[in-house]
Amino acid sequence: VKPARTYDRVLLKISGEALMGNQGYGLHPPTVTRIAEEVKSVHDLGVEICMVIGGGNIFRGLAGSAQGMERTTADYMGMLATVMNALAMQSALETIGVYTRVISAIPMDQVCEPYIRRRAVRHLEKKRVCIFAAGTGNPYFTTDTAATLRASEMSCQAIFKGTKVDGVYDKDPVKHEDARRYDKISYDEVLQQHLGVMDASAIALARDNKLPIVVFSLDEPGGFRGILAGRGTYTLVH
Ligand code: UDP
Repeated sequence: VKPARTYDRVLLKISGEALMGNQGYGLHPPTVTRIAEEVKSVHDLGVEICMVIGGGNIFRGLAGSAQGMERTTADYMGMLATVMNALAMQSALETIGVYTRVISAIPMDQVCEPYIRRRAVRHLEKKRVCIFAAGTGNPYFTTDTAATLRASEMSCQAIFKGTKVDGVYDKDPVKHEDARRYDKISYDEVLQQHLGVMDASAIALARDNKLPIVVFSLDEPGGFRGILAGRGTYTLVH
């Protein structure tokens, strides 16, 4: 019998910007709901799901510091932005019947759970979607690194990086018609060619922990589920 799914436990990483729809800023609730439905369809296959959502739709530390803010303070603001996105995703998922926990790297007990590794693993075993918020809890990091860290800690079989395009290309496919998509590419090639899959520290951490990264399009309806069921186009970084 062919297995109905290719992975049992994965981490989905999306940028904050994925939640803003066609707006230039913030949250677009119908878009959040659409992504929640994609997550639910994978959850329905029995896959255990972790999520990390960026904060770039609200605030980025680097942008703040470029305008004269103290860098670490700006980074904490970026981490708080990810908590808002996580709560929006929690609400959207629970509205359609998927149980979730928001788990923050910075304790905020009135808002969500603090990060306790064994507790998070237990939530996954009980089929709750774990949304990891506040990045790594440290300034100078990104949510890509947080995604790699949490995926490693949770023993995920892969990171699914949802983007606007269906994989990693040798040049920007939006600007170049002759851009070629890689089916597979190594971590070192991604680093050497400066392909913007994730930032370099996240790629290096994934490489050192032998954590595959599946880059796929989140704009393609049913795409996430399709890959989990063994179909569709994507790039495997390994
Ligand atoms: N951030 C941080 N430490 C972390 C994760 C995030 O300081 O471990 C801050 C950082 O300022 C970053 C912001 O949170 O710019 C939002 O995260 P990110 O830029 O990764 O979001 P994305 O680009 O994925 O939307």
